[in-house]
Amino acid sequence: MATLRFKALEILYSRKPIPVKREENLTSDYYGMLVFDRPKMKKYLSKESYKGIIDAIDNGTTIDRKIADQVAIGMKAWAMENGATHYTHWFHPLTDGTAEKHDAFIDHSELGGVVESFSGKLLAQQEPDASSFPSGGIRNTFEARGYTAWDVSSPAFIIGTTLSIPTVFISYTGESLDYKAPLLKALNAVDKAAVDVCQYFDKNVTQVQANLGWEQEYFLVDEALYYARPDLILTGRTLMGHSSAKDQQLEDHYFGSIPERVAMFMQDFENEAYKLGIPCKTRHNEVAPNQFELAPIFEEVNLANDHNQLVMSLMDRTARHHGFYVLLHEKPFAGINGSGKHNNWSLSTNTGVNLYSPGKNPKTNLQFLTYIVNTIKAVYDNQDLLRASIVSASNSHRLGANEAPPAIISSFLGSEVNRMLDILAENVGDRKMTPDEKTSLKLNIGRIPEILLDNTDRNRTSPFAFTGNRFEFRAVGSSANCASAMIALNSVVAAQLITFKKDVDVLIEKDIKKDEAIFQVLKKYIIECKAVRFDGNGYSKEWADEAERRGLTNIKSVPQALEAYLSAKSRKVFGDLGIFNNIEIEARVEVELEKYTKKIQIESRVLGDIANNHIIPTAIAYQTSLIENVKGLKDLFSPAEFTELAGARLDLIRNISGHVSTIKAQVVEMTEARKVANLIEHGKEKAYAYEQTVRPYLDTIRYHIDKLEEVVDNELWPLPKYRELLFSR
Ligand code: ADP
Ligand code: MG
Repeated sequence: MATLRFKALEILYSRKPIPVKREENLTSDYYGMLVFDRPKMKKYLSKESYKGIIDAIDNGTTIDRKIADQVAIGMKAWAMENGATHYTHWFHPLTDGTAEKHDAFIDHSELGGVVESFSGKLLAQQEPDASSFPSGGIRNTFEARGYTAWDVSSPAFIIGTTLSIPTVFISYTGESLDYKAPLLKALNAVDKAAVDVCQYFDKNVTQVQANLGWEQEYFLVDEALYYARPDLILTGRTLMGHSSAKDQQLEDHYFGSIPERVAMFMQDFENEAYKLGIPCKTRHNEVAPNQFELAPIFEEVNLANDHNQLVMSLMDRTARHHGFYVLLHEKPFAGINGSGKHNNWSLSTNTGVNLYSPGKNPKTNLQFLTYIVNTIKAVYDNQDLLRASIVSASNSHRLGANEAPPAIISSFLGSEVNRMLDILAENVGDRKMTPDEKTSLKLNIGRIPEILLDNTDRNRTSPFAFTGNRFEFRAVGSSANCASAMIALNSVVAAQLITFKKDVDVLIEKDIKKDEAIFQVLKKYIIECKAVRFDGNGYSKEWADEAERRGLTNIKSVPQALEAYLSAKSRKVFGDLGIFNNIEIEARVEVELEKYTKKIQIESRVLGDIANNHIIPTAIAYQTSLIENVKGLKDLFSPAEFTELAGARLDLIRNISGHVSTIKAQVVEMTEARKVANLIEHGKEKAYAYEQTVRPYLDTIRYHIDKLEEVVDNELWPLPKYRELLFSR
């Protein structure tokens, strides 16, 4: 009987690229067709309700019931014209992915039967039966009460036959249970804090927007092969698998052309993404075989993040039409690159200025310096919190493990910016800079963009790199909800800008001129946070040693890294800005620890099953055939000849026995370790127990399985091998 592996390979060999029909000739003709965007609002809403909603989007005013009702009617009309029969409140719970509960647009009609209906109340609020979403104990299951509320700042869209309304998810007592509510608060905080600081430079600035351009890395595997791997199905990564003789060492995938079947998937997927108003811009192969990247044009953070969540589910659906499965896991395959999601982040003003773009005149350049310095100061002071915002069981395979970015948070600025900061740190303070010196310093910054934009991005080892007109937070995991990182980053920058304003104002009150006051405070910060600036190779051992000397933290343990959320410093940042209260922050850590524990638990169970049900029986079957062979030799040959002939076979039999026994014993030990860990009630201790006493078995058992894969008959091996998973397309 052919194994599932060979059946899957047969399916793979019969696959052909599935051609994709384009919607229209021009992307701009159908871009956003499934989004209730401004032009559609204008068309489907009354003047009054259009003004109401635009005001809410742009200025955060509240929408009254009457306007909400009118918007609901317009939205429903548009959605039904586009084939929608249901609506859903779409939200970002603290699990992976998004959640939705669909309701039909129907209500009883007075004449019997039903009519299509939708109201402002249903648009604005919904009560999902949400007792099983993680809440870290805030929402006791017996009261199971949380509700979703309309986020007007992100437009509704249609998926299939469902109108999807982006919402926040909060408990009845007001605590946020999702990623979006705190993200909106953090964005609001950074807006306010940055506007206040911009007032030093330009009184016309009334709004500062945070921008996010994410780069999504992912792997594609053939769907049939995927379904022949229980570990991929249940954990998103391969828990065993001997490395392929050839993988990424020739770097031929990165530079190669996109295989046709993959290109068809990408086109199909991008067509759908364009209809949803997602500005997909770049697609290319990544370093590892079958690894790819997609990047859109950056957008306002909240919208960009909604789009990233949408993209991840859209990719998944579209890939299946092409016989692929998308792996968003940070480390699906051992020994080759994993996947990240660089978060390109910047702040821009309503006056059209990117605060991280060096300007052309001294005024905007001092502003540029102000934002750069405050950002790296925030990163330095809150390195532990930023790390906490990006750790997870799956991302731990990248962070500080076999590949970078390291678990040390540092910032690459490039030689020009570094030079500016050093000049500034040396010159002001005790001795006042001359006006000429100041102007020259400020003017020199004007040279930065050309130099930076040309060669900065070459340093790909920095977890937080300045790349000419933005910072790139590179430690974010490919499967993560960017909101987690964005909540932390925008919050710490907001808190830092507030401190900066206070520090400068104190000096101004002492009659120090504004520019001089800014220079002095920046100088102080530059000196204080010097340790965070590092342009060298972040992946090197030397850097780990150097970072330790500099006093930077290097925390590789996920449970330990998560504890940073609970430090007095983090609580103060979040508390002062009103982003998380103590209950919310504790609940979030509890949820993260539980996710960590459960993921390791699942991996451990799956590996145990694979070992016992797939690998050991296969190894024994092969070993039995060897034993039969040896017996035959014994019958045929003289004892002397037999000893000479059977030596290698006997070694192989012993070798297999050794691995089988070790695997068996270790699976038993691992199961025992799980049992002990499962008895621990306290979430943090349980997570530590899983990390320290269960997780190590995943590597040791795997080692022996991979050794068996090397020697067991290929015909018998039950699970698709790395060379098949990585080179099929
Ligand atoms: P690279 O691979 O060199 O890092 P990409 O072009 O793949 O760069 O991705 C860069 C991302 O950064 C894109 O999403 C782009 O829109 C985004 N980006 C560019 N400028 C800014 C900015 N000022 N703020 C935020 N994101 C930006
Ligand atoms: Mg990048």
